[in-house]
Amino acid sequence: LVMLKDIRKSFKVDEEELEILHGINLSVTKGEFLAMMGPSGSGKSTTMNLLGCLDKPSSGEYWLDGQNTSSLDSDALASIRNQMIGFVFQGFNLLPKTSALENVELPLIYAGMPQNERRKRAIEALELIGLSERLYHEPAQLSGGQQQRVAIARGIVNKAPILLADEPTGNLDSRTSDEIMDLFVKLNRELDITIILVTHEPDVAAYANRMIHFKDGRIISDERLNKS
Ligand code: ATP
Ligand code: MG
Repeated sequence: LVMLKDIRKSFKVDEEELEILHGINLSVTKGEFLAMMGPSGSGKSTTMNLLGCLDKPSSGEYWLDGQNTSSLDSDALASIRNQMIGFVFQGFNLLPKTSALENVELPLIYAGMPQNERRKRAIEALELIGLSERLYHEPAQLSGGQQQRVAIARGIVNKAPILLADEPTGNLDSRTSDEIMDLFVKLNRELDITIILVTHEPDVAAYANRMIHFKDGRIISDERLNKS
């Protein structure tokens, strides 16, 4: 489903090219739930941005759904991203003064879906994540955990097979984190959504079925976690 082949990524800093990722190789198959861990600055978010087609590698190949993304122009890249990938962020990134329902509809507006269909899909997604009672609440009227649920509904509303989550529990207390992680497990098991998640918390990573560690722009370990 996802394959990174010897990916390198450099950024220009003060006129100098600074290499951040030094040859990342990673395959993720459909249905996996992968946790990425590692120290601050080790390249986790940079890797997530590449996986999400939000940025391009400096060298190496990124294969997504059997297509080599390096050979795609920006329109084709945006289209495969919309089809294949949903995003969830640490800070929820919801529009303020906008109902939960409208926040969840946003990706479908970008996809050009007609209003009726859009509304139906957004309500379905909010029901699935357990927020059908809060359709017309604005973010400020919701708890952090509820806001993250809205963001997750938005992440899955386009029925993309892959969900990328960069520190989705970073702003939540541990009980709410557990609830959010239970929800990710449910999406992974029941909808077969492939989940790739960054976290600093070993307790959060323990919900995944595979864990990799980054250090200084390299993957230094890759292990399967046994699940009952
Ligand atoms: P954290 O756990 O703190 O989120 P991370 O593992 O996600 O860390 P990255 O955000 O991937 O780390 O950053 C890796 C390195 O790349 C850092 O040293 C960062 O300063 C650098 N970096 C990231 N993006 C850019 C950019 N656009 N321009 C220059 N340097 C960047
Ligand atoms: Mg990061």
